[in-house]
Amino acid sequence: MTDRILEFLRSRREDGPCLVLDLEVVRDNYLAFAKALPDTRVYYAVKANPDPQILELLVQLGSSFDTASLAEIQQVLAAGAGPERISYGNTIKKERDIARAYELGVRLFAVDCEAEVEKISRAAPGARVFCRILCDNNGAEWPLSRKFGCAPAMAARVLERAHSLGLVAYGLSFHVGSQQPNPKSWDRALKASAAIFRDLAERGIGLQMVNLGGGFPAKYLKDMPAVKTYGQAIFRALRKHFGNRIPETIIEPGRGLVGNAGVIEAEVVLISRKSDDDPLRWVYLDIGKFNGLAETMDEMIRYPIRTPFDSDPMEPCVIAGPSCDSVDVLYEKQPYPLPVSLEIGSKVLIEGTGAYTATYSSVSFNGFAPLKSYVI
Ligand SMILES: *Cc1c(COP(=O)(O)O)cnc(C)c1O
Repeated sequence: MTDRILEFLRSRREDGPCLVLDLEVVRDNYLAFAKALPDTRVYYAVKANPDPQILELLVQLGSSFDTASLAEIQQVLAAGAGPERISYGNTIKKERDIARAYELGVRLFAVDCEAEVEKISRAAPGARVFCRILCDNNGAEWPLSRKFGCAPAMAARVLERAHSLGLVAYGLSFHVGSQQPNPKSWDRALKASAAIFRDLAERGIGLQMVNLGGGFPAKYLKDMPAVKTYGQAIFRALRKHFGNRIPETIIEPGRGLVGNAGVIEAEVVLISRKSDDDPLRWVYLDIGKFNGLAETMDEMIRYPIRTPFDSDPMEPCVIAGPSCDSVDVLYEKQPYPLPVSLEIGSKVLIEGTGAYTATYSSVSFNGFAPLKSYVI
């Protein structure tokens, strides 16, 4: 929460939920990453929030960009970055999209299997590829499952294939899971990475780069270690596993770069109980899973919610969204404490909502408009 955001909301009196994002916070976050990992290039994970003003600011600050689609590549180019600052980091790409990205000048691509390497060798000859490896997402509040990456034992073969097809076997990537509270999580993946570097070096292929992915947390309800602590733990792990031959490294922060820069203002639409002896109040907001708060899925991300009555006594509540889909309940398994004095019509502020909100909002489910977004 910043004074600029509060001032903006006070002057606007919005009808309907809206996200307000403070670019000064994004700038501070970027500089904190650059300082904590001085030898590492930042590739902003565009999917976290592709707002043009955020991209333009990051272009000015010298950032590079991790993109997942042609549209994201075009958004980054439109913000003024050259294609040499773009990684096409999705391991799942149509061959014609690879060809279009190549035409636009993109030369860095993610893979996690030989079939994708073959597509890239045809559509983007000579490009650099890095292979994503599976890694332990333990402890992450938004773990990334097994959808992306291959077993470390397979990665060497994938990169060898790339090399034999005339691509540059450039390096490895992994993601320790989003909202990763443990800075030591990078250690095991870096150990596996170093082993693949050695293995391929013996076969005459010199990898150059490790992509350390995202996972850097935003602050929600719990305190999280500072970026500096992550930087130190990562550097120690690099030293431990690569000795004095530390490779080029990149990070791809999304949440950690923009999450805490945004606040959503929402309104209480209804407060009720389900029976006379229901111990829980149900608080329905004008925002839910379908218009911005998709990351409350399985109650994984628990946002701080501020109300005008936070000094009053609290009671546990179920919080739900406004749509007519019964999955549109934000917190029920673990009820959320809200002030007893909260009223229908009260405005609430949902903090830490700069990442993974606006673009997750549906086009118009039940006629509810997509989340409005202001970048200031
Ligand atoms: C989503 C994503 C990120 C960003 O992750 P955060 O945890 O938000 O920092 C980074 N890299 C890749 C490949 C991603 O898909």
